[in-house]
Amino acid sequence: MPDVHTDGVSGAAITLEHLTKTFPGSTLPAVDDISLHIEPGELLVMVGPSGSGKSTVLKMINRLIEPTAGRILIADEDVTGIDPVGLRRKIGYAIQSSGLFPHMTVAQNIALVPKMIGWDKERVTARVEEMLTLVGLEPGEYWKRFPRQLSGGQQQRVGVARALAADPPVLLMDEPFGAVDPITRASLQDELLRLQRELRKTIVFVTHDFDEAIRLGDRIVVLRERSRIAQFDTPQAILASPADDFVS
Ligand code: ADP
Ligand code: MG
Repeated sequence: MPDVHTDGVSGAAITLEHLTKTFPGSTLPAVDDISLHIEPGELLVMVGPSGSGKSTVLKMINRLIEPTAGRILIADEDVTGIDPVGLRRKIGYAIQSSGLFPHMTVAQNIALVPKMIGWDKERVTARVEEMLTLVGLEPGEYWKRFPRQLSGGQQQRVGVARALAADPPVLLMDEPFGAVDPITRASLQDELLRLQRELRKTIVFVTHDFDEAIRLGDRIVVLRERSRIAQFDTPQAILASPADDFVS
């Protein structure tokens, strides 16, 4: 239940403990012993070059990839212990190119997880309408469209609406605005910041774009190869004394 004393924070803490992934056939780990604590309601950006293991970390949190070693806790619960439906309730996931199902309408895409977790029809319908409005898309106009009938920026908005539909405390975003033009990207970033002021989820936002990281992050984790942490601090502190070539 939301608690009035938590200042509107609806997110849950995330803790990574010695999280490691070595893919079969690889000698070096893709993610090598990362430990990190993310506060409830924090927008944490993980920034690092391509191949530094960012997507692998998110997929481990989301249990799309099994860790070789280490643990992930969400609100003190080990996610490896959560069943798939419980996990969908806890974690929203938005990715580049939106990941929308092309054969489903906008409304069907957004309704997917709420239906899966057993919401009744009226509640799902009301929620789809609420989510479309939240991301700035007029429900009457976009309800029945298919993803191909939307611009790239609109697809990303629907992707965010879908990720938030079941009201999860945690939102994982993997380069969600990577495929759109710079102007649309800036407006999506603004929207995300506005949403976050309202919703106060715990968001892990992955990007290879340092400017995007600075713009969005409450705190930023700068990753080197194999997801080794070069720096973990506020945007202000990182700009004041960058620890890494990637940052300076
Ligand atoms: P990033 O998202 O930072 O670009 P990734 O997490 O996608 O990095 O990849 C990290 C490393 O793991 C890369 O070297 C990549 O080739 C490797 N990798 C990612 N997924 C797999 C996989 N399914 N099988 C084998 N290697 C993988
Ligand atoms: Mg990636």
